[in-house]
Amino acid sequence: MELRSSNIDKLDGEVFDVLIVGGGINGAASAAALAGKGVRVALIDRGDFAGSTSMHSSNLVWGGIKYMESRDFALVRKLCMSRNHLIRSYPATVQEIRFLTTITRGFRYHPRYLWAGAWLYWLIGNGFTRIPRFLSPGAIRDSEAIIDTRDAIGGFEYSDAYLHDNDARFVFNFVRGALNYGAVAANYVESLGARRESGGWVTQARDVVSGREFAVRSKVLINAAGPWVDEHNALTGQATHHRHVYSKGIHLIVPRLTDNQRVLAFFADDGRLFFVIPMGPRTCIGTTDTRVERPEVVATEDDIRFVLDNINKRLRLDKPLGKEDIISIRCGVRPLAIRAEGGGGRDFLQLSRKHAIDLNPHDAHLSIFGGKLTDCLNVGEEILAAVGDMGIGVPYPKHRWYGEPPEQVRREFMHQAKLMHLDELTASDASEPLSSRLWRRYGTHALEMLEEIREDPRQAEVLIEGTEYLRCELYYAKRREMITRLEDFLRRRSKIALVVHEEAMRQSPGLREACNILFGDQADARLDEYFATTRRERSEAAAEGADLPEACPSPAAGARQRESH
Ligand SMILES: Cc1cc2nc3c(=O)[nH]c(=O)nc-3n(C[C@H](O)[C@H](O)[C@H](O)COP(=O)(O)OP(=O)(O)OC[C@H]3O[C@@H](n4cnc5c(N)ncnc54)[C@H](O)[C@@H]3O)c2cc1C
Repeated sequence: MELRSSNIDKLDGEVFDVLIVGGGINGAASAAALAGKGVRVALIDRGDFAGSTSMHSSNLVWGGIKYMESRDFALVRKLCMSRNHLIRSYPATVQEIRFLTTITRGFRYHPRYLWAGAWLYWLIGNGFTRIPRFLSPGAIRDSEAIIDTRDAIGGFEYSDAYLHDNDARFVFNFVRGALNYGAVAANYVESLGARRESGGWVTQARDVVSGREFAVRSKVLINAAGPWVDEHNALTGQATHHRHVYSKGIHLIVPRLTDNQRVLAFFADDGRLFFVIPMGPRTCIGTTDTRVERPEVVATEDDIRFVLDNINKRLRLDKPLGKEDIISIRCGVRPLAIRAEGGGGRDFLQLSRKHAIDLNPHDAHLSIFGGKLTDCLNVGEEILAAVGDMGIGVPYPKHRWYGEPPEQVRREFMHQAKLMHLDELTASDASEPLSSRLWRRYGTHALEMLEEIREDPRQAEVLIEGTEYLRCELYYAKRREMITRLEDFLRRRSKIALVVHEEAMRQSPGLREACNILFGDQADARLDEYFATTRRERSEAAAEGADLPEACPSPAAGARQRESH
């Protein structure tokens, strides 16, 4: 029986210690932390795991350098420690990267002052990364020829980290970790609300795919519904100290602008930091920060113009970037935690991205507000402590629930890969050796893939043209990654839909074969469903004035949420 359907059967039958509603980074990290320590956990999401905010981030793991300006040093210290902890725990996944910041004439601070600030930032981060460096306009030009330095008065380079694959893959690996520890997780299962009964929680759930409704019983209920936390609390009658306000942010994915593996940072016309971020064979540009009233958002013409205008002003390109260069769009809302009473008064852009966990011990209920991918290990640990305080036994309190497999396992994998000359099979346009990519994505399971390739060399063939994904990865994804819709694979387990033109995918015989592997006799239906979704998202964006090229999927967030209502 498939992983998802067998898990749905289990959800229907057991009493869990904890049910988590929402499989973004907060829910996924909480599930991994609890399950890793032996707590009986269930996790549901009404879309795919990481199908909302957690797939629209900038993919950065950072110590919050921008909070240096508001002198929130305690927050910077906390985020720097979280960043260092992630880099240490996930050496293949969370990697240090240089940020080159260019300052132009008339900016509110002199570059030397900002460079001094970067040193302080480095010290607050325990000097964990490479040291900052000052650059004259000439040095900026020499380092990065595409930066327009005509108006520049200097710049500085410092380090933070980024997610080498993408945010959604990072989140899914926590879900996968939770499954390894016995958690029962299912995507496309919606909570319709929950009630207290006999001292526990009964959550009414609906399988979004089949429409079947059933009850999930648990002792504790965790609301990790991200931007929809308040909405879900209204369904369960929970009053909280915090609530959310929303800030929309978009990123545009365009052809690779520079071969250098560094982030280019600028201050946009609105004074906010603005990035050009490497994304494998592409470049990701953004972001925006616009207050919105609802979590379901679409990239509008104004958002797209803002990003294109700002980048065209700051780079020296042969031809300015236009809408025809956009390969895909990421668009989501940051759920920002504020005090429920009178918390809306602060300047919106100054609101910090700290998370808050509201507890209701009387009802055994927790709500997770705000947060960042960067803070995920702290969220997991804090949830563990809170659940323990609510009287749930934690059988293995010392077990380490996060991190990549130990170094000796990695060395064994690399040795086996070398003996079979695996890297000679690396696709010609790949951005890294095949062995590095397989290790980062699958950890110990990458060893099984080596075995499959030894048995049948066809398993090492790239299946979908223009991507790096091998036949054996598709079989693995079918078995272990709960791919329910094609988009789950193309957009979240992999980043194919972000970096490959939609038209190329439409024409790809390999995509059809991939669908056969993933969905069997449902292959055609899943393929049609995927292209119908991208068409609908484009017309939703068009309704907001953003007339996007045919080849541009994913302009909308929340579309799948609305679908499931
Ligand atoms: C533009 C942008 C850039 C960002 N950049 C960064 C960055 O570089 N670094 C960083 O650390 N952070 C960044 N962030 C912040 C980070 O992405 C978010 O804080 C984080 O992803 C929020 O995760 P979450 O789990 O709270 O919410 P989500 O990821 O939205 O997860 C909530 C889940 O709950 C599910 N759900 C809702 N209601 C129900 C229900 N009734 N039943 C079942 N499931 C339900 C939803 O389907 C959803 O999947 C960025 C955010 C944005 C928008």
